[in-house]
Amino acid sequence: MPEKLKELNKNLLDISTWLRFDRIPWVIAGPCSAESEQQVISTARELAKSANVKVFRAGLWKPRTRPDTFEGVGKIGLAWLKTVKAETSLLITTEVANAKHIELCLENNVDILWIGARTTVNPFMVQEIADALKGVDIPVLVKNPISAELGLWLGAIERLYHAGIRKLAAIHRGFSTYIEMEYRNRPYWEIPIELKRLLPNLPLICDPSHIAGHRDLIEPISQMALDFGIKGLMIETHINPDQALSDSKQQITPQVLVELLDRLRAREAALTDKQLKTRIAHLRAAITQVDSRILQDLAERMKWVEEIGSLKQQHHIPVLQINRWEALLEDHIAKAQQIGLDGEFIKAVFELIHAQAVKKQL
Ligand code: PEP
Ligand code: MN
Repeated sequence: MPEKLKELNKNLLDISTWLRFDRIPWVIAGPCSAESEQQVISTARELAKSANVKVFRAGLWKPRTRPDTFEGVGKIGLAWLKTVKAETSLLITTEVANAKHIELCLENNVDILWIGARTTVNPFMVQEIADALKGVDIPVLVKNPISAELGLWLGAIERLYHAGIRKLAAIHRGFSTYIEMEYRNRPYWEIPIELKRLLPNLPLICDPSHIAGHRDLIEPISQMALDFGIKGLMIETHINPDQALSDSKQQITPQVLVELLDRLRAREAALTDKQLKTRIAHLRAAITQVDSRILQDLAERMKWVEEIGSLKQQHHIPVLQINRWEALLEDHIAKAQQIGLDGEFIKAVFELIHAQAVKKQL
């Protein structure tokens, strides 16, 4: 791990110092947008009945992709959040995108701030937020950027850290893609996993609502997050989802949330059983052995690639032979499927290998 990240990781304040939770998953819930006092308070009252829900969320300033859609109620909603705080045991959080939002949230005792995906993507905006938070002791949750770039996510966390923020957490809400698929945003789990590897002390929260884009998919994504060891969830909840002014398809009622949380199974067990420990250690050793074979084979493959590359150069043959590449890929996918491997997976693996092989020959 690079020294700078090591230091950041070491100095993060443990989440137990700023968020009290006694069960997993602990949950941040509430509507995508605050719409009216009645909607905010009634949703919060229902949510407060759940032992998992610790924080109430509601967007006041909504970063909408297109104009002429509901862009949030703005600062009048702060009073509604204050009522939630006074009437329930829930902490309150909202999205901030500039210094003015921060000033208003601090004046109104908002407990936790979050930075949205469309803000994390922009270092100027993140820096403005970090500057406005200098000397302020408040937890900040950083959503991943809309584009699949770990660097921007890390960069936002580092900017806040440099401003003195030590109560930090990351929210995984998936990444935009132009390809139509079952999810609204691609999870690319490898990105939050890499973030966790680099900053193991940074709590990771999953936002299945924005990954899913549809309420039916919230439960399987939440379970997947728990299976990865993620302990916190942010789930959009509305007293009347179908009438919601933003993200209506992905919101669920507080009651549906409670039922869903009941069905989720957290993997909390520590690895203490001796026999199980030995069995897992053996399996890990076997996996490591296979991995080192794969590495050696890849190194050998690259050696042949270099040889073929210099031959092509000597004889002025173009590096990329598209017919050969197509035939090879087709053949590998077919063979892979015969032995029970997923064709899409093998395609992705060989696309990477081939791209590297081409690079080596240039
Ligand atoms: C939201 O949480 O309502 C929101 C706008 O999220 P994101 O920044 O993840 O799109
Ligand atoms: Mn939303």
